[in-house]
Amino acid sequence: MIVWLSSHVLQSMCRYARDLSPLENGGILLGWRSGQDRVVADMRGPGPHALHGRHCFVPDHGWQVAEINRAFQASRGDLDYLGDWHSHPDGVAEMSDLDSATLLRIARRVSAPLMLIVAGSETEWTPQCWKVQVVRPLIRQRLIATPQELKIFDPPSV
Ligand SMILES: [Zn+2]
Repeated sequence: MIVWLSSHVLQSMCRYARDLSPLENGGILLGWRSGQDRVVADMRGPGPHALHGRHCFVPDHGWQVAEINRAFQASRGDLDYLGDWHSHPDGVAEMSDLDSATLLRIARRVSAPLMLIVAGSETEWTPQCWKVQVVRPLIRQRLIATPQELKIFDPPSV
């Protein structure tokens, strides 16, 4: 499976990350599923009541749910929630224990959600993406977060 990431979305995430560095920033990924692949075509930021720390980020959940509904309706169902993203200022693009716990919690509401992390500083930010997968579905179901291949694409201008 491949996560296709719009270059516009990546630029926006880097801008959000830089604006609040050294505090973490984040938001949600919007797009659609194409077979196993995901196409991230749009995003939203943290929302007005999000909390930003050096090593934690808590989004404004109520605002995000409203934004997801707005985007879904405005796009006639094309744009749906695919997962969360957040920044690791001056850090590495790796999942912390807290990040894994957050992603597994999201997986109880949404099937196979994504977590995208942009790590870096100033103008140098590196994205990396994880997806929740079910392992041993027939024996004892267990969910794990695995890194996914990420490809950047330039969206058409219309
Ligand atoms: Zn994190």
